Amino acid sequence: MAPTTPPVRHEPVDGSVLCLECGLCCDGTLFKHTELEDSEIASARSVGAPLIAIDAGQGTQVHAIPQRCALFQGGCCSTFGRWRPKTCGDYTCELLDGFVGGSRTLQECLATVRDVRDVAEAVRRNNLDAARGEAPPEAPRMTALLEVLRRRYFKVKGKRPASDPEGADRPARGPETA
Ligand code: SF4
Ligand code: SF4
Repeated sequence: MAPTTPPVRHEPVDGSVLCLECGLCCDGTLFKHTELEDSEIASARSVGAPLIAIDAGQGTQVHAIPQRCALFQGGCCSTFGRWRPKTCGDYTCELLDGFVGGSRTLQECLATVRDVRDVAEAVRRNNLDAARGEAPPEAPRMTALLEVLRRRYFKVKGKRPASDPEGADRPARGPETA
């Protein structure tokens, strides 16, 4: 039987149902840091977020919150509703867009989240093995697979000019972990 395409929903969907089960864009799986605008630095400090300086090119730096984000607690953003960086408020991934738009089911999205977690964990273990000089043969394939998943589902459009070979802007949330 031919595969069926899920019907497009038209009723509003609360995307937080998905995000509360996911957290990949906050927990360090996808990104190394979350950039801040200069006007957000004081607010970030006031909620206790640790800050780092990121090279923004041409001799400039921006402030950022390192990931895994210290504000990501209990599976969600502990300052949600009080304050979040604009970068976070602006970000949506392909899974969330598809779920809210009705072209992806929650189950499909969560299956992809699990796949990404599994691959990211394999890459993390491989990197530890590589540091001991024992990288398994499949390590490059897993690293490449993680990159494919990131680009397919979690690409970020940023504010500054492109460094990405595909032409995407440098992520305001990123760059991705190695
Ligand atoms: S990666 Fe996407 S689905 Fe997951 S928490 Fe972030 S926006 Fe939500
Ligand atoms: S500030 Fe909140 S939404 Fe942004 S990365 Fe941290 S936990 Fe996630």
